[in-house]
Amino acid sequence: MYRFGKEESDAAARVLESRQLFRYLPDAREADTFEGALATRLGVPHAVATSSGTAAMISGLAALGVGPGDEVVVPAYGFVASVLAPLAVGAVPVVCDIDESLTMDPADLRRKITPRTRAVLPVHVHGNASDLDAILAVAREHDLLVLEDACQAIGGTYRGRALGTIGDAGAFSFNQHKILTAGEGGALVTPSTDVYERGFMAHDGSANFSRHAFAQPMRAGLAFRMTEVAAAVLNVQLGRLDGILADLRALRSRVAEAVESAAVLTPVPQHDPDGSCGTNLGYVFADAVTAQRFQAAADGRNIDAFFGNEYGHSFREWTIVHEGRGGHHPLANPLRDTEWRQDADACARSEDILSRTVLLRYNFDVTDAEIDKIHQRLAKEFG
Ligand SMILES: *Cc1c(COP(=O)(O)O)cnc(C)c1O
Repeated sequence: MYRFGKEESDAAARVLESRQLFRYLPDAREADTFEGALATRLGVPHAVATSSGTAAMISGLAALGVGPGDEVVVPAYGFVASVLAPLAVGAVPVVCDIDESLTMDPADLRRKITPRTRAVLPVHVHGNASDLDAILAVAREHDLLVLEDACQAIGGTYRGRALGTIGDAGAFSFNQHKILTAGEGGALVTPSTDVYERGFMAHDGSANFSRHAFAQPMRAGLAFRMTEVAAAVLNVQLGRLDGILADLRALRSRVAEAVESAAVLTPVPQHDPDGSCGTNLGYVFADAVTAQRFQAAADGRNIDAFFGNEYGHSFREWTIVHEGRGGHHPLANPLRDTEWRQDADACARSEDILSRTVLLRYNFDVTDAEIDKIHQRLAKEFG
């Protein structure tokens, strides 16, 4: 949550007082408005508002026709949703290493491709673009679909195009921790009318009650609708996006200047630095001990200095995959029959990189005095 105020409360109250909480009611327009505004802001033809980012990813994979017998290659760092979404549609998530950019390593993606591979799910982690040119080239070569996980990257760009709009479909999250938030929420975007219709039906098995006239016959779907209250909040939040991103990028520059003038550091490489959302500043070290010294000196009240392998966001923590618990019924567990053995050590290279990488995440309350204090501590430790 970066900026959230009275405008959001007023918008939510307006919907609550209208008693029109469900998006298909005759006078309800918040979710429709949000889908239109989001699509316009990102420059993509279609958007579906969902109840979460994970719901958007599941709906996206279903809409792309990914399912049982298919493998989906996902990076070893990001969020457990990377493996949950393929499992939810009956597909096997196959984990590939990240490189020092902390995003999917296209070379390892290539190594993970088999005749069963159907889709690739790059994660634009910490608001930074994956190596999309290389990933899209591999995907084209092997006829793979691309679903971008842009859950942490709304408003970020890659070579001038909005993250999430470059592959066959893209997913966003609006949970409590994201750049824009309604507590929970998500969106699926796609350039394809066909994928849009299927995604809308996948996100809501009662989509025939919506105002849409679909060209395709209804298919079974889930119940991942966004509420009107969440959509009303997000309509306000979306208006704040450009300001949030501008201020995050400016803050990142201030913090970067302070830490980099105190110590010789190697920034986490980025595939399009200008398009980064600016939520984080990362440095990679030669060894974990030096990284630890940096982390201790850089951590502050409004600047959280954390390791890449903290917070459970690396493959090592995704025990359901190591232990093959990919579903609640044996026949609904895609990991049951797979030949892939993906134990906790399967992505040792990623773990090594994450154990040597420290990220700084700051909020808008950070003061010049706090930034200066971190500069002093780093200068003392590394000077
Ligand atoms: C937040 C997030 C998601 C989805 O989270 P939800 O809680 O389902 O909205 C997916 N992938 C990444 C990388 C995320 O950070």
